[in-house]
Amino acid sequence: MKTELVRVDPARVEDSLDAIRRGGEILKKGGLVAFPTETVYGLGGDALNPEASKKIYAAKGRPSDNPLIVHIADLDHLAPIVKRVPEAAKKLAQAYWPGPLTMIFEKTDLVPYETSGGLATVAVRMPVHPVAAALIEAAGGYIAAPSANTSGRPSPTLAQHVIEDLDGKIDMIIDGGQVDIGLESTIVDFTEEVPVILRPGYINRQMLEEVLGEVKIDPGILDANANKGIRPKAPGMRYRHYAPRCDLTVVEGRQEAVVAKINELSKKARKAGRKVGVIAADETRQLYRADDIRDIGSRTEDETIARHLFEILRDFDADGVEIAFSESFDTPRMGMAIMNRLLKAAGHQVIHV
Ligand code: AMP
Ligand code: MG
Repeated sequence: MKTELVRVDPARVEDSLDAIRRGGEILKKGGLVAFPTETVYGLGGDALNPEASKKIYAAKGRPSDNPLIVHIADLDHLAPIVKRVPEAAKKLAQAYWPGPLTMIFEKTDLVPYETSGGLATVAVRMPVHPVAAALIEAAGGYIAAPSANTSGRPSPTLAQHVIEDLDGKIDMIIDGGQVDIGLESTIVDFTEEVPVILRPGYINRQMLEEVLGEVKIDPGILDANANKGIRPKAPGMRYRHYAPRCDLTVVEGRQEAVVAKINELSKKARKAGRKVGVIAADETRQLYRADDIRDIGSRTEDETIARHLFEILRDFDADGVEIAFSESFDTPRMGMAIMNRLLKAAGHQVIHV
């Protein structure tokens, strides 16, 4: 299949209405279009068309029991696809939609089981990105879109990443430049008595508590073993994720001890002829000796760290890095989201110093 690549400036979507309309037509006919959102690039198909959802799983190589998030652009489009919206969820929508927040409800029959991964519930998000919003409208209101990467690889934050993984497998890629947040949406489950955070994101625990009062956190978010033996609520959290090809280890502890440990391990690996990468904060990058040292951003701006994490993991692959070490980024605002992705990327390989 030839994949059409179009460039749309998010600040001037009105100049690209032809391309958006064409993307909408492809989706209405059951085709696939990758597009930018504020979190990561999404791989879109018509959420109400089971055949489109099947194509999404096939293009990504995604296990078909890992449900897709349904994206809407209009609050009126929520009611037809969910059985009930609790008051708390309405308040949350008012506070953070459109935005990087996904909520889980019981689904109606309008949502095919192919889209919900066989579950009786559906995940819904209303993105704020102008290209995403315009495309959803053009497609008829409902786009199922997981991240536009091959299953297991780091999520795409640039159109180039989507091209790497999906060129030739989908109908169209809309290039809207680098995404803003760089980590997937926060997922909150509203099918329990008390809302539960299933996946941390830009909308952090404090922001949720400000609106909801009590919120629970799925224990599996930072601890690989917490849900062993239990069926995880977000099936996707069970799979190996975000993984670069290199062997990645997170080193945590006091700053000087972390630097010393990473340099020691880097020296040993390089002596053995391995290419070594390091992910470091702006504040410490000068202190390392390795083949490929990446400055992920300042610890005082964790939004920058979040935006660059997946890109760096992909750059390591492109660069042939074999062994990589990362500092830990347990920052106050986005730390939980960053560490959830980083620990998964590292297969929970952590050294405490
Ligand atoms: P992605 O679209 O790649 O960000 O992946 C979507 C995430 O949402 C996966 O972790 C899914 O398991 C999760 N998800 C989607 N729908 C549901 C649902 N109905 N219940 C629980 N988790 C869901
Ligand atoms: Mg994904």
